[in-house]
Amino acid sequence: MAEVEVASTQAGAGCANCGGNVGLEEETDPLPGQAHPTGLLTDKVQRESALAKMRGFGADAFRDQSRPLVLAPSWLLAHINDEMVLLADHEVVVKNGRIEEVRPRTGSTDERVDMPGQLLLPGLISMHSHVAGGAATRGYVEGNLTPMSKGAPLRQGRQFLKAMVLLEDLPDEDLDTMTALNLAEILRGGCTTQVEMSKGLRSMQSYVRVAREFGIRGYPSGAVPGMKRILPIWKRGTDDQVLFDSVPETLAEIQENLDYARTINGVDDGRILPMMAPATNAVHTPETFAAMKSAAQELHGLHIHLQAGYGRAPQPDKVAMNRLWGQDEIPWLHSMGIFDGSVRVFGAHLLGIDFERDLPLLANSSFTFANCPSGTGAGVTPAQWPWPEVLGAGVNSGIGLDTHSNDYIENLKMAVIYGRIRADFLGDSTPVPMVRPSIWTAVEAATLGGARGLGREDLGRIAVGAKADLTSIDVSGLFVGVGTVPREPLNHLMYANGLSVRNVMTDGQWQVRDGALTIVDEAALVHKAGKVVQRIWDDMAADGVFVDEPRSDLIPAASLS
Ligand SMILES: [Zn+2]
Repeated sequence: MAEVEVASTQAGAGCANCGGNVGLEEETDPLPGQAHPTGLLTDKVQRESALAKMRGFGADAFRDQSRPLVLAPSWLLAHINDEMVLLADHEVVVKNGRIEEVRPRTGSTDERVDMPGQLLLPGLISMHSHVAGGAATRGYVEGNLTPMSKGAPLRQGRQFLKAMVLLEDLPDEDLDTMTALNLAEILRGGCTTQVEMSKGLRSMQSYVRVAREFGIRGYPSGAVPGMKRILPIWKRGTDDQVLFDSVPETLAEIQENLDYARTINGVDDGRILPMMAPATNAVHTPETFAAMKSAAQELHGLHIHLQAGYGRAPQPDKVAMNRLWGQDEIPWLHSMGIFDGSVRVFGAHLLGIDFERDLPLLANSSFTFANCPSGTGAGVTPAQWPWPEVLGAGVNSGIGLDTHSNDYIENLKMAVIYGRIRADFLGDSTPVPMVRPSIWTAVEAATLGGARGLGREDLGRIAVGAKADLTSIDVSGLFVGVGTVPREPLNHLMYANGLSVRNVMTDGQWQVRDGALTIVDEAALVHKAGKVVQRIWDDMAADGVFVDEPRSDLIPAASLS
């Protein structure tokens, strides 16, 4: 604890992992992808670092929280009588980390930040992430079939588990650099709370270290089994003895995760609230699941993958669960009391479920679906996520970043677009009701949906007494708006992306000001992380991951039936 407390006092003083000058001391090193040190990229890093400092890195991070701060956007999304309501020409007063007042514009002489042309939203909540793994997998997983996936010819996108294994092997400093890069992106894009499933205990500890430095609100967990143990169990084929033999070590790993979670439970004024996470269900038995559930009840919930039906081919996980337990994934979990309301459950994906049989089991106040439109890589599985059916069944839902895209606004748009594709193509033949999502549906899920699942009446809303977790987005500038205050500001989010986010705070503490991170030197961090990714990718290149990109896949018509 003492060590952790020391780390937390450095919050706002810049990232202790990368400091203010990280990466710049090696100015003449070749940069990733460069055969010769031309200096051009290094110059760019130095320029951007200087610019970031001029734009607010530093000073805004230290403001006195007890002084009122008035935020005056063109529009804000308020929470009135349990409804989201857009208010023009209103302002929000923030004091001591909470929202003190929401009122029509005044001429108050308190410290104020005018946000002309901007929309102020509650800080966005991500319901599913594997933070450390994001940047090292982006940029190749989107490719089509590769030598790595030839064994499963109908798998879409490329395998990224190897990168996850290599990440778990990194020394702490490099692992923290990767975590910091991804968390910096997540914050830059307006997401202030993450329900995080790190790929193992080491990644979880890294997440907690960096989240505490950045002042992020997180519900962290480490997947069990972690990447160091999971692959032989998960890819065991039909030799289920491997699973049964793994039980003692899995139980020990559950205990190790719980022991660590207890040490950080509720630190930093309750910003860090740990959960438990089975990595995936086919690597567990009723005995290990019972241990997971009991630990999750002591903490803040159970974070799971529901993905046994991924893809179009018969799936090994689904086959294994039927072979072992005689049931599909959701009925099996239900038979063990996972959805009995005694623990909050956060489930990502819902791939391959039986909608008529399974969705009613999930329509209760203890379950939240994490809709992750960029899961498996942006565009890889565009319309497989059954969000329209989930909405139609009245199951609570939120939006999750998952692994590869940390841009929350892009994910918000993808949720709407993919959900509409699904509803438009399947709406006439669906056996269950579907809701065709709008940007309102997506923003509701991104704020209130997440808060509802977490049981937090002080998150996901702009209302008196709520936490001052806030995000402002430019909805009037180039590409997004039309140079004037919009009439219907939420629709402009369909043209925005993470770089449209202008200001972000958590607990009333600035983390992004005028489009620049205040908690870390972003250019220096990107430079340092690039070196770590280069090493990981060099290792993966030897396995033939990077290939000449296939331009398309021909799918035989028969396989679609
Ligand atoms: Zn996941």
